[in-house]
Amino acid sequence: MRKFPKPVVVTSKCFEFDACRYNGVMIPNNFVQKLEPFVTFKPVCPEVEIGLGVPRDIIRVVEKNGKKKLVQPTTGKELSNKMYKFAVGFLNSLETVDGFILKSRSPSCGITDTKFFSDSENPSPTGRGSGLFAEKVIERYPGAAIEDEGRLMNFTIREHFLTKLYTLAGFREVKAKNSMKALMDFQSDNKFIFMSYNQREMRALGKIAGNQDKLQIEEVISKYEEHLHKAISKNPRRSSHINTLMHGLGYFSKKLTSKEKAYFLDLLEDYRNHKIPLSAINSVLQSWIIKYDENYLARQTFFAPYPKELVEISDSGKGRAVK
Ligand code: SF4
Repeated sequence: MRKFPKPVVVTSKCFEFDACRYNGVMIPNNFVQKLEPFVTFKPVCPEVEIGLGVPRDIIRVVEKNGKKKLVQPTTGKELSNKMYKFAVGFLNSLETVDGFILKSRSPSCGITDTKFFSDSENPSPTGRGSGLFAEKVIERYPGAAIEDEGRLMNFTIREHFLTKLYTLAGFREVKAKNSMKALMDFQSDNKFIFMSYNQREMRALGKIAGNQDKLQIEEVISKYEEHLHKAISKNPRRSSHINTLMHGLGYFSKKLTSKEKAYFLDLLEDYRNHKIPLSAINSVLQSWIIKYDENYLARQTFFAPYPKELVEISDSGKGRAVK
């Protein structure tokens, strides 16, 4: 049974933690609730932190010539410098962080879909992008698992977010141990995940962990981290998952009956056609891993990338497209 690391996640405080929205309400969020026992949350409300009260008049992002400003139309206050200063100070003060769950569309926390306006009065938005706090999050932690609650309603996006989050938290433990043995074990245990995400980066990571040039461990870990971020940056394609599952099947090819193999290949087709989730096929492979005592596969994080309590295959249909 895999022992999972505990990821550190910064979240918008208005999810489940505080009634700090501009209108004095808190936003219920099932995913945040579900994650609570399995991660260390660091909730933050940037707007309260810069001195805006609750309730407060709305603020908006005004964009001119590519330059963003955070303004409060009713008071005429320009809050950009305060917000940027708070964001940089807060983000630099975090000793550890693996991911962020931020509020969509917020002028402070929105990651990609915050409305931009041409001035503080005009009601028609002229574009969309990141809010001012989120902008600094992306700048300071480009390799972290960063999502908003809207996108996380989509099953595929959620699966990618959780896989990335737990992989990064696992690597943080390797960094803390500062040992080549821990790095080699991490590389070996995550090989199937890397295979399913990015085969080129999987090979690069293997080479770095092999350390044929006998570099100092600090240099090896820093290079490895850079490539790890590249390896798991994008949601893997379904076809890559299928190739990885076929690779897993190869470990049992001499042990299975032709009917068992045919059943597995049928499941793969169902997965290819979006009829079943990855976890359904993984559980079949896992039963063979146990039956045939296949130790190398038993250690592969691919088959249990995050706690099973977080596997939730339902999809609201409201989640937006995969990045
Ligand atoms: S979206 Fe961000 S700034 Fe707005 S209330 Fe929530 S935590 Fe505060």
